[in-house]
Amino acid sequence: MITFKDVSLVYPNGTQGLKHVNVTIDEGEFVVIVGLSGAGKSTFIRSINRMVTPTYGELYVDGENVIQLQGKELRKLRTKVGMIFQNYNLVNRSSVMKNTISGRLGHTGTLRSILNLYSKKDRALAYENLKRVNIEEYVYQRADQLSGGQQQRVSIARVLTQEPKIILADEPVASLDPPTSHQVMKYLKKINQEDHITTIVNLHFIDMAMEYADRIIGMRDGEIVFDGPASEVTEKT
Ligand code: ADP
Ligand code: ADP
Repeated sequence: MITFKDVSLVYPNGTQGLKHVNVTIDEGEFVVIVGLSGAGKSTFIRSINRMVTPTYGELYVDGENVIQLQGKELRKLRTKVGMIFQNYNLVNRSSVMKNTISGRLGHTGTLRSILNLYSKKDRALAYENLKRVNIEEYVYQRADQLSGGQQQRVSIARVLTQEPKIILADEPVASLDPPTSHQVMKYLKKINQEDHITTIVNLHFIDMAMEYADRIIGMRDGEIVFDGPASEVTEKT
């Protein structure tokens, strides 16, 4: 599903975000990337949906080298690859339903969405997805009236409504307390098991990674320094 072939990324100021990264992630995998702040986790994840652009190598997503994509092709990629962020990225003044259904944006087009022309089917799908993360009772509340954990669940419902092939979660629990973090990780894991959507999650806590990941990729200074099942992670790595 995702293959990095000797991918490097140098930011305009000369910082190396990725250095000769080679890795393949198969369809349906649940992978956690761990590493200290600055290790390159965000750069790795953001390369996959081309929020950042590698400067060298080849990066295949669903059979297509995404490094050269532009315009319409890039929008198609981003519809296929859903994102979850540390700070939820909801529209605060909008309702939970409006935020969730905005996951359809790539499918319906901006004009339809501005005019609020989502189909009945889209609305039903959004509602079903809110139910999957047990947040449907807040469907007409404003997003900013919810707690952080609730907002992250809405952002999971939004990404599901996008019907992506891949979900990228960039530090999805870094702003949450431990019980809420576990709750969010459990939803991500459950969805991966039920829907087989390839899922990549960045975390900076190794214990959390070991509890949920099938496979852990460790990064340091823009390089992959560990790649294996959680059971192979020892104190030394
Ligand atoms: P992580 O997600 O593991 O914290 P990042 O991918 O954010 O790591 O960062 C990797 C390296 O790239 C760090 O040295 C960081 O400072 C640098 N970096 C990240 N974004 C930019 C940017 N837009 N411009 C320049 N350097 C950046
Ligand atoms: P995170 O904890 O998510 O990695 P950072 O505080 O490292 O966030 O980065 C915040 C923003 O600043 C990001 O958009 C990142 O790309 C950018 N950034 C990070 N490091 C640098 C840098 N050295 N130079 C320029 N931009 C940077």
